[in-house]
Amino acid sequence: PTNLDVAKIREDFPILGIRSASDRPLVYFDNAASTQRPTSVIEAMSRCYREYYSNVHRGIHTLSEASTQAYENARATVASFMNASSTNEVIFAAGTTAAINTVSRSWGDQNLSQGDVILLLISEHHANIVPWHQLAERVGCRVEFISVDEEFLIDDEAVASALRMHQPKLFAFGAASNTLGTEYPVKRWTRMAHDAGATVLIDAAQAAPHWKMDVQDWDADFIVFSGHKVCGPTGIGVLWGRESLLDSMPPFLGGGGMIQTVTTDGFTAHALPEKFEAGTPPIVEAIGLEAAIDYLTDVGMDNIHAHERLLGTRADAGLREINGVRVIGPTAEHKGGINSFVIDGVHAHDVSQFLDGQGVAVRAGHHCTMPLHHAIGVTATSRASCYFYNTVEEVDVFLQAVSDVRDRFAKTGRRRRSRSSRS
Ligand code: PMP
Repeated sequence: PTNLDVAKIREDFPILGIRSASDRPLVYFDNAASTQRPTSVIEAMSRCYREYYSNVHRGIHTLSEASTQAYENARATVASFMNASSTNEVIFAAGTTAAINTVSRSWGDQNLSQGDVILLLISEHHANIVPWHQLAERVGCRVEFISVDEEFLIDDEAVASALRMHQPKLFAFGAASNTLGTEYPVKRWTRMAHDAGATVLIDAAQAAPHWKMDVQDWDADFIVFSGHKVCGPTGIGVLWGRESLLDSMPPFLGGGGMIQTVTTDGFTAHALPEKFEAGTPPIVEAIGLEAAIDYLTDVGMDNIHAHERLLGTRADAGLREINGVRVIGPTAEHKGGINSFVIDGVHAHDVSQFLDGQGVAVRAGHHCTMPLHHAIGVTATSRASCYFYNTVEEVDVFLQAVSDVRDRFAKTGRRRRSRSSRS
């Protein structure tokens, strides 16, 4: 038992009450891909559109002032959610992907050159790999990876030795793996990387929804996350950067809103944070994100983490008991609410489809972590990811469905695909 009144929480999320296509209660276990929204978020956005929407910053009229104030309030709420020391450090971006691309284009192009190394974990999401490959193509730097061991773990020694060997200019890593579920020691690794002279970017897409973030305590240089994974809207995310670093970086996107002056010869950039927010920003999305953060803060990040650990541990233990199921990830003590797995002789897509028939939504595929899947020798996994609004009963429905999938396919061999994900 945890401190959450999950039944009451579920009433705040209209979508959790719908029936699945197979007319069963929906068990939504695809939270690592995207979470659902409470009514307060939907209403905050709707209220803005209905009552005070206008473009921000530029209009000297009442609606524009109201929108601007709401947009800037949202920035202040994000700053306090992350414990940032200044709102100048909070840049609204379209999401984690856009935020990392901004760092790659702006800081990367300015600071990296031929022969420099960017160090990543093999478990990175493509959003924290491809922008660095692109940077490597532009400037001639190199991307290196730290692998996982047989237990799917990365220990401090592996990080220390990679830092020693590669002397990277940048160490960019996910705070938690969206496939393995592993939660990494962000503060310790940041300190180790700084001691080795590297700049540190933390992809907090899978941390922001689950743990209390403290950017001052973590002491990294860039931290990024997405709104839609913290019960907020799509189309918005956050790039937090150390103020002195952001100040020294050139703007990436050019256009309205990010300038001080423009002449026929050139432009001067606006001060932070506008410098990195060219064009009409995601105004209503920022207001929705603020409502989502208020909601999570009310529930309590520590309560959220404790509850999803409880569910994740039960799912992990149950999966390991089912014959023919292999959990692709470390033991539960290292993980939050994410469990990926393969079933002997059954393709991940078939697993997902069968579970969908039971009303259980899980994701199948490589989860945008192809290098990780390649390294561990599987082409696809099924991933069940729970959140604070999920219940113990739902975990049991999920486990029963996995057990049924196994029986069904083992007995009939029906729809067995020739290229299975068996490893
Ligand atoms: N990094 C990680 C660890 C993620 O899980 C995701 C989303 N699956 C992303 C980056 C990309 O986030 P977005 O699609 O919101 O830009």
